[in-house]
Order: sequence, then structure tokens, then C-alpha cells
Amino acid sequence: MKTRTIRIFPLGTTYNLLEIFDSLNQSYFKGELCLPITWFGNPLREAKRKRTLGSFHYRTQLIRIHRLLDHPHFPPYFISYIVYHEMLHSLFPPLKRGARGRRIHHSAFREKEREYQDYMLAKEWEKRHRTFGLHYGRTQ
Ligand SMILES: [Zn+2]
Repeated sequence: MKTRTIRIFPLGTTYNLLEIFDSLNQSYFKGELCLPITWFGNPLREAKRKRTLGSFHYRTQLIRIHRLLDHPHFPPYFISYIVYHEMLHSLFPPLKRGARGRRIHHSAFREKEREYQDYMLAKEWEKRHRTFGLHYGRTQ
């Protein structure tokens, strides 16, 4: 069996993903989640169209956050919201739904997502900055 090494780079220039993860883990998950987290991508090289800001990979349990977000332009509560969202994927796997495939952000997921303390703030910020073509929440 071929194995692949997962390289993780959680330290950014503006944000430390480990700190964000740990703080969310304590606040919302009793410190029980144990998931690798890393920055990925190159903001300078990426196409200007739709970008995936975060993803969760079920097999490796890896959370990936796009390096584009490692910038003071993005408020801390927004980065935390993206990380929180990806953490939830580890607890709420997609529901199968017949021929139409999987429901990824199903109601149980959404309900838990709204428990994030700055949920409304993050959603508003996201809406106001939609011109960036930002997109989040891909899962594999
Ligand atoms: Zn998602």
C-alpha cells in the first residue's frame, strides 16, 4: 500500500492555526478533537475565481485552510468561523440521500454551526465581502 506523507504548516504570518484550533477545541468540544490542521495554497498564484477557503478530508481527518486568509484583512472571528466549520465536519459526516447523493451541510450540522459565538458576525462579514469570490466548505 502506498502511503503519503502529510505535511502540515499551521504557522502563518498573521494567524497561528494551532492556537485557533486549540481555543475552539476548548470552547466548543471539551478539548476532545484531535485533528491535524494546515495552511494550503498560494494566494499569489491562485486564479481570481472561486477559491476554496477550507476543506476537511475524512480519511486523513486533515483540515486545510487557504493561505489567502493569513492576512490582517480577515478578522479573527472570520478565520475562527472557517476553522470551526471544518472541525464540525469531523463530527457530522455527510448524510446519504438516495440518488441525489450526499447532504453535507445538513440540519444537524447547521444547528451546531450556529452555536459559534460570532456566527452572525462572520456571516455578515462574508456577505459584505462576497465580491472577493470567496467560497468555503469543501469536503472530500
Ligand atoms: Zn463545509
